[in-house]
Amino acid sequence: MKMARILIVSNRLPVTASKNKDKISFLPSAGGLATGMSSFHQDYDCQWIGWPGLVKDKIGEKSIQEIITKLEKLNNYPVFLSQSQIQAYYNGFCNKTIWPLFHSFTQYAVYQNSLWEEYNRVNKIFCQTILNTARPDDIIWVHDYQLMLLPKMLRQKRPDLTIGFFLHIPFPPQEIYRLLPWRDEILEGILGADLIGFHTYDYVRNFLDSVLRLFGYESSMGYINYQNRILKVDTFPMGIDYERFSSSILNPDTKKEIEKIRDQIGEKKIILSIDRMDYTKGIIKRLEAFEFFLQKNPEYLEKVILIMVVVPSRIRVKQYQQLKQQVDELVGEINGKYATIGWSPIRYLFQSIPFYELTALYYVADIALLTPLKDGMNLVAKEFIATKNNNKGVLILSEMAGAANELGEALIVNPNNREQISWSIKYALNMSDKIQKKRNQIMQKRLKNYHVKKWADDFKESLLQVKSRQAEFSAKDLSPKKRLEMIEDYQKSKNRLFLLDYDGTLISNTYKFKKIKPSKKILNLIQQLIQDKKNQVVIVSGREKDTLEKWFADINIGLVAGHGTWLRERIGQWKTVKPLSNKWKTQIKPLLELYVNRTPGSFIQEKEYSLAWHYIKTDPSFGQMRALELKSSLLFLTSNLNLEILHGEKVIEIKPMGISKGLSADYWISQKDWDFILAIGDDWSDEDTFQNLPDSAYSIKVGTRSSLSKYNIKSSIEVKTLLKELISK
Ligand code: UDP
Repeated sequence: MKMARILIVSNRLPVTASKNKDKISFLPSAGGLATGMSSFHQDYDCQWIGWPGLVKDKIGEKSIQEIITKLEKLNNYPVFLSQSQIQAYYNGFCNKTIWPLFHSFTQYAVYQNSLWEEYNRVNKIFCQTILNTARPDDIIWVHDYQLMLLPKMLRQKRPDLTIGFFLHIPFPPQEIYRLLPWRDEILEGILGADLIGFHTYDYVRNFLDSVLRLFGYESSMGYINYQNRILKVDTFPMGIDYERFSSSILNPDTKKEIEKIRDQIGEKKIILSIDRMDYTKGIIKRLEAFEFFLQKNPEYLEKVILIMVVVPSRIRVKQYQQLKQQVDELVGEINGKYATIGWSPIRYLFQSIPFYELTALYYVADIALLTPLKDGMNLVAKEFIATKNNNKGVLILSEMAGAANELGEALIVNPNNREQISWSIKYALNMSDKIQKKRNQIMQKRLKNYHVKKWADDFKESLLQVKSRQAEFSAKDLSPKKRLEMIEDYQKSKNRLFLLDYDGTLISNTYKFKKIKPSKKILNLIQQLIQDKKNQVVIVSGREKDTLEKWFADINIGLVAGHGTWLRERIGQWKTVKPLSNKWKTQIKPLLELYVNRTPGSFIQEKEYSLAWHYIKTDPSFGQMRALELKSSLLFLTSNLNLEILHGEKVIEIKPMGISKGLSADYWISQKDWDFILAIGDDWSDEDTFQNLPDSAYSIKVGTRSSLSKYNIKSSIEVKTLLKELISK
């Protein structure tokens, strides 16, 4: 079978172009995404779309053509951006607004309309480029915070596309996320994807929490029913190209470099830190902790050395310039204070280093000291462990790095706690080889198993699974052809039963908790239906019998109230389906009252034979949490009371066992030899009706949720259209 082509879309291409005089050359791009995805890109039928690193106003048309041609050979496709676009979109909105906010550095976040507008424009340019190249069965995998509007933009133009989105940085807690003036647009943008991936479960939870609180969509096992589409949110901790690092020691350049470092450093213990110059990386706090260590443990003076590689980054952003100055000064201060003629405690490299030097450093280092204040993942931590094929070396890792979730055998520290870091350095320096090896081997096994290709495969497979789940639904769509078949059946039949739910089916869900009477239009429609003597209409509702009686006092239709508790065959004549008792209520009500007191906004609705605890008006995620809690307490309490607990849309309802819309459906079905049955409903309680229908019946679920029904239609408006169609034929 031919595999689908994958379009990887990210801000930067995995190679960066540079122009020297008239010569264009390419170098691998730095950063986790580029290095991690490169091997995946080479192994698949992939096209990578992104900015090649040169601004278009500084190069002529000839160079642009040359770049396009050369990149084509590497399966790369460039998106050209101008200097001002890069300034406002990348240096601006991405790195002055999103980056600080998403890393919870709210004090650094800048909110400026002009930057936001440019972010929109650049996302549109990416969208257009993709639309120009995408084939219908391509998989589009959008990466990271620079392109969060892109999934929705693509979806609007091509609803059928398979779109994945992965965020490589943290997703902040909702109380931070909501500070963003454009929070709705960004959230909508991301929700355009079919699968949304994050490095850790914490970020997934934060994201789902924002979706719930800002848009009101609940999730179940990571699935969200969003605007008639099912999408999934899940955790995929990004791996590394394990073999590349674990075998790096075989490279002669790396070997030579290791000898060189050893010659220069001698027997001193090496503590290594590598990161981009970024305030999220905790460089200042790390230096302070290292100084604290020297101060508290003078016996280690001249015996340890901190090799601190800091890769230049975002040098045009003010905070980065200030940070560089602070780091320079602090390194100078510590070295000045503790250095001796033959030794200085910190060797500071402000530069990017080639792969063989990087891996040589990983290999010789006794300790890797990686203490970001917040980091989406931190690949350096994983690379350090993978390179250690002699298994010696200790990783000290911040608990604020996503990687800490998978590297539990490292010494995990709070990056702000200098005592703990200092203590961990000492502990690491004294850790026996045996323990070092044992810990590293466990971590290596994990990293080897979930290497970057596995990670990407896993993401791709999950994306395809979401698509097939969506396909199951679209197969159930009431197509025009099936609609015609239904109309033909209707015309041929002589005894027709309509089992129609009320809220969410005959009227829109927006009115669910309001006592809004059925409109004239609805009453007219029902009248028209029953004018044909072949039709028996039954409204099957969760509402109370008195309400229904009042609303339908003049129309001779069947009614079912309280989810099947009461039946009306003729106007004014109500009966219960079976004998019912209410004694249990005195036992259950106090518990519900306790939950009302503990959950602001929630309330109890007492029906004749049931009790309902509603949480529609509570804080959404708090309400959801309390509902689950209440459900488990109720399960315990009702175990010998012959009661049933139903968890519906923002409601928990307790009612006598066996009472359901299904039971009332049975009642109506058994009344006659029907040759046409149509049941329509939108809620959990309608599933009972669907379940009890004969095979020949038509059952329709309103909305896109999975259901026992034969068909789905989108809204209550469509229900009315369908009923009108039946009558008019
Ligand atoms: N890296 C690099 N050049 C260097 C030093 C490091 O390309 O001079 C790579 C390193 O191997 C790692 C990536 O940069 O793969 C950094 O990823 P990480 O997740 O640690 O941090 P990020 O920079 O993405 O915040």
